[in-house]
Amino acid sequence: MSVFSHVEFDHHEQVVYGHDKASGLKAIIAIHNSNLGPALGGCRMWPYASDDEALRDVLRLSRGMTYKSALANLPLGGGKAVIIGDPHTGKSEALFQAMGGFVNSLGGRYITAADSGTGVAEMQIMAERTRHVSGAGQREAFDGGMRNGDPSPSTAYGVFIGIQAAVKQRLGRDDLYGLKVAIQGVGQVGFSLAKHLKDAGAELWVTDIVELNVRRAVEQLGARAVAQQDIFSLDVDVFAPCAMGGIINRQTLEALRAPIIAGAANNQLADAELAQELRRRECLYAPDYAINAGGIIDVCYERTGGSAAQLKAHIEGIGETLHLIFQRAELEGRSTVEIADRLAEERFRR
Ligand code: NAD
Repeated sequence: MSVFSHVEFDHHEQVVYGHDKASGLKAIIAIHNSNLGPALGGCRMWPYASDDEALRDVLRLSRGMTYKSALANLPLGGGKAVIIGDPHTGKSEALFQAMGGFVNSLGGRYITAADSGTGVAEMQIMAERTRHVSGAGQREAFDGGMRNGDPSPSTAYGVFIGIQAAVKQRLGRDDLYGLKVAIQGVGQVGFSLAKHLKDAGAELWVTDIVELNVRRAVEQLGARAVAQQDIFSLDVDVFAPCAMGGIINRQTLEALRAPIIAGAANNQLADAELAQELRRRECLYAPDYAINAGGIIDVCYERTGGSAAQLKAHIEGIGETLHLIFQRAELEGRSTVEIADRLAEERFRR
């Protein structure tokens, strides 16, 4: 299992393996790039089938964080941690204390946060052993309310702002009144996004594998429920993927009719070439790591301080970043992903 010749290796600065026999911790932390600041990224817990699978994930995800933070104009680099283990059966206080110690051993070069398989409770345990952890306490949210460490309301607000920018670019409209939006996945981010859209006068279609989530959106927001497989082919203005990755693939692309794809899910494109294909089809794609940066901005503000108003304004900057990406993509005849990557590289390679 070589790091330097790994297909996902991209000049990562540091890759560290951590083990604690007593708690059974097996973890990897990768720091991709720290030119702009300490590497921040979530700590994922997943029952990886092999060490190599865990390495692949941590290399890929840490690189993605460098791009996301750079695009969001944050003083942060990109990093990620993975714990090899089942989040349903393998969690213990000792495990996360050991993980906290592992994070601490890097002296602040890497700052951890919640991710798939971890949450506020795990961050609080890690915080017993390190201060290089985000999302462990109460704080003021972008709208002035108090929240626990969950960044999803900020993510949802950023996606809402991003949809406004995409609608302006592709449809030439300044308001969302009567706009038709299909949301795949009405969990934490999807439901919160749906509320913003509803308040702005949009019409909503939703789907989810959890019936209760669909019912909540129907009853509270007047959304229309659709079957999972039908969400792609609706005659809507915006398709907002807020469930899982890889959702734009050759098959779903054939069914998709929306002229805009703008949602929260990470890694929406099943392969990189689809970005070009979307451009050919005149479907405006808001690169996921640009539009869903509200969460990382929120986490950053928790560390650096700053008022709720400053946090809100920074999240709203996602609209300007997307506007820049859309304009450059059109001017240069390139995909929005290519331009977003280049913009990020211009910032973090300076
Ligand atoms: P969540 O688990 O709360 O919500 C996801 C929802 O999608 C759930 O309700 C789930 O039942 C549903 N779902 C799963 N598979 C589905 C399918 N095949 N069809 C329809 N619905 C399906 O997660 P979340 O925090 O809302 O995050 C949503 C997405 O946004 C994820 O891809 C996540 O990685 C990404 N994201 C989240 C944040 C954040 O701050 N939470 C930040 C950046 C990116």
